[in-house]
Amino acid sequence: MAKKVSRKATVTVAKKRKVGVSKAPSAVKAGRKVNKPKDRVLITGAAGFLGSHLCDRMLKEGYHVIAMDNLITGSLKNIEHLFRREDFEFYHHDVSKFVHVPGDLKYIMHFASPASPIDYEKIPIQTLKVGSLGTHNLLGLARVKKARIIVASTSEVYGDPKVHPQSESYWGHVNPVGKRSMYDEAKRFQEAITMAYHTYHGVETRMVRIFNTYGPRMRLNDGRVVPAFMGQALRGEDLTIFGKGDQTRSFCYVDDLIEGIYRLLLSDYAGPVNIGNPKEITIKQFAQEILKLTGTKQKLIHKPLPSDDPMQRQPDITLAKKLLKWEPKVDRAEGMRRTFEYFKSLTPEELNEKEHFSFEKYAKK
Ligand code: UDP
Repeated sequence: MAKKVSRKATVTVAKKRKVGVSKAPSAVKAGRKVNKPKDRVLITGAAGFLGSHLCDRMLKEGYHVIAMDNLITGSLKNIEHLFRREDFEFYHHDVSKFVHVPGDLKYIMHFASPASPIDYEKIPIQTLKVGSLGTHNLLGLARVKKARIIVASTSEVYGDPKVHPQSESYWGHVNPVGKRSMYDEAKRFQEAITMAYHTYHGVETRMVRIFNTYGPRMRLNDGRVVPAFMGQALRGEDLTIFGKGDQTRSFCYVDDLIEGIYRLLLSDYAGPVNIGNPKEITIKQFAQEILKLTGTKQKLIHKPLPSDDPMQRQPDITLAKKLLKWEPKVDRAEGMRRTFEYFKSLTPEELNEKEHFSFEKYAKK
């Protein structure tokens, strides 16, 4: 039974820019076939890096997309090409507050959260809230709408891992009060409450543990290593390696990740699934690859390694391979070439916006 939502609740949607609405339900009237309305999917964090790519993909798959974002770290620029479509609408809303969406929903894809270590350290409370309260709100919505929900978890649930590579059965090594704890613990709580809604309320849930991903639409000044190095190379600055650069990461191109997420959404598996590219590289080698790709003559310089920066990270994707028949297809050379093309296409003003967001107006909330 769908729960009645009070009128008061509906006004919590701060600003609503409705570009298209779905047509009346289909029917075969007087022998005339009327087009079946599209299934509707809610995507949170839709103006962010991954959310915007998910919007593109779900529209391509024939869904009506309801995009939601509070625009703290996301940018409308990532989705502005969609605003003229009838099968796309945008809500400017913070999912940590009550979420109301009129009409049916088939799927909810919860991808709202700051995701760069510098971002989430600057807005720790919002980060904790979106992973916990935001997830709770969306699970409640999924329950009312009888929708399937997929939540974006992260390799950060493994912390600074003691097991290598990381498979889903590893419980992790996380500092609950460390520099990354606002993100890591919010995401661990997210997994726990998602599992509880699955077991207790029978909600259809999916969880994707996302490893380092890169590609077009990453925010140039978000502090993560790919945009940081690309921006530095394009501005002719030296590339800043944190620590000795012997820490490892495994980078997945965004198209591969989106494919994995889509397959997981359609699967019938409720446990967490790693999606990432197992090709591991040290940060120093990665910086050298970027110097070569961009043809810059700059140097590599070293800065202190932030505390709780994981020393190694590599997904074990055995489960995804078996369950989803999925594995990454785009190698790093090709993916980085495409990513470089994107960063090269930014305007000089965008390229020089290198200072990290201050988030001043959100910090006390
Ligand atoms: N890093 C770096 N220089 C930079 C930015 C990041 O050496 O300008 C390092 C960072 O210390 C980490 C790795 O690159 O070891 C990946 O950092 P990122 O912020 O992209 O994400 P993480 O995988 O740590 O969550």
